[in-house]
Amino acid sequence: MEVITSSDDGGAVRTKEVKAFGTAAADANLQQMSIRRREFQVQDVEIEILYCGVCHSDLHTARNEWHGTKYPCVPGHEIVGKVTGVGGEVTKFKVGDLAAVGCMVDSCHDCDYCKEGLEQFCAAGNIQTYNSHDKYIGAETYGGYSESIVVTEDFVLRVPENLDLPATAPLLCAGITTYSPLKHWNVGPGVKVGVVGLGGLGHMAVKIAKAMGAEVVVYTTSPSKVEDARKLGADDVVLSKDKEQMKRYKGKLHFIIDAVSAQHDINSYLKLLRVDGSLVLVGAPEHPLPVAAFNVITHRRTLAGSSIGGIKETQEMLDFCGKHNIVSDIEMIDINQINEAYERLLKGDVKYRFVIDMQSLKSG
Ligand code: NAP
Ligand code: ZN
Repeated sequence: MEVITSSDDGGAVRTKEVKAFGTAAADANLQQMSIRRREFQVQDVEIEILYCGVCHSDLHTARNEWHGTKYPCVPGHEIVGKVTGVGGEVTKFKVGDLAAVGCMVDSCHDCDYCKEGLEQFCAAGNIQTYNSHDKYIGAETYGGYSESIVVTEDFVLRVPENLDLPATAPLLCAGITTYSPLKHWNVGPGVKVGVVGLGGLGHMAVKIAKAMGAEVVVYTTSPSKVEDARKLGADDVVLSKDKEQMKRYKGKLHFIIDAVSAQHDINSYLKLLRVDGSLVLVGAPEHPLPVAAFNVITHRRTLAGSSIGGIKETQEMLDFCGKHNIVSDIEMIDINQINEAYERLLKGDVKYRFVIDMQSLKSG
């Protein structure tokens, strides 16, 4: 049913109902619900969602682990699909094209950061794909666990045609979140990189760092992932629960990307860095991680963080993955398996990204 709602600037915007999967409370399971999407405006691209990756951030948000979730919450920010409508001012997409949407759907376009292509740091706050204010319809933004989405053209990405489409979806968050810091910290030939946590982000970090020419050591808590890590391209694998193995690269790594979603001891990783080495947190556990000052004072080490990546860089990453034939290793699920998939994520039991076949929502 069509309903007219009011945008933040007072304009009337037509909306239509679409099927989605989301949650009404932090302690509730995800279930089918209906949400409203605006009819595409002049600068908008309307996308039928074919596949959506399942990021651990979806779980953190659905369960309010970062303490800012508005309900109902429809997660999903690794979206690929087909264009079903374009506004009159859209120039880069036409109906029938493949298109992708990542973690952001808009920003102010005007601050220094947006002008530099760093929309993730927009001074006014970027508009995230879910759980942000939707200025068009005066509600929350709803993510990719849904039939369709409408996004302003500047935040819609092109998908390399040579890549397997479902396995491309995770590049939209796991891909860019690892590509961006690897590039920013000049990872390449001659650089020894540690990847901590072999989940969705971690396995993409391994593939991308190898394609950039680095030497890669994986740190995992899961004995069942040791062989896989090598198959993914790692030069060496360390079982992080084994104290002897943890001594192997003490003071030897140039760069570490930490993609762990839960509480863990980052001090044992800081000690692995050489002088001037950097440990970059991309994982965002619910609670603070203690740091012993001497682990950064000695060796002049840096502890840093990194947030997704800008739109231009996301397209660059997609093109890089197209060129190097990099996609995610995925386990395809039906939308009705999403609650079980979240439980498996909590146990680190994912190899290496769940991707929802959105056909299962349409036919459900
Ligand atoms: P994921 O697929 O669930 O992977 C997380 C991995 O962390 C697990 O597979 C496991 O690897 C390890 N792990 C889990 N619990 C652990 C524990 N208690 N101790 C030690 N290791 C543990 O998650 P993801 O989707 O890759 O996301 C990872 C984190 O990045 C999440 O916190 C997510 O919210 C965050 N994130 C941040 C950004 C950003 O912009 N910075 C973007 C996206 C996601 P092993 O089995 O190998 O130990
Ligand atoms: Zn994500």
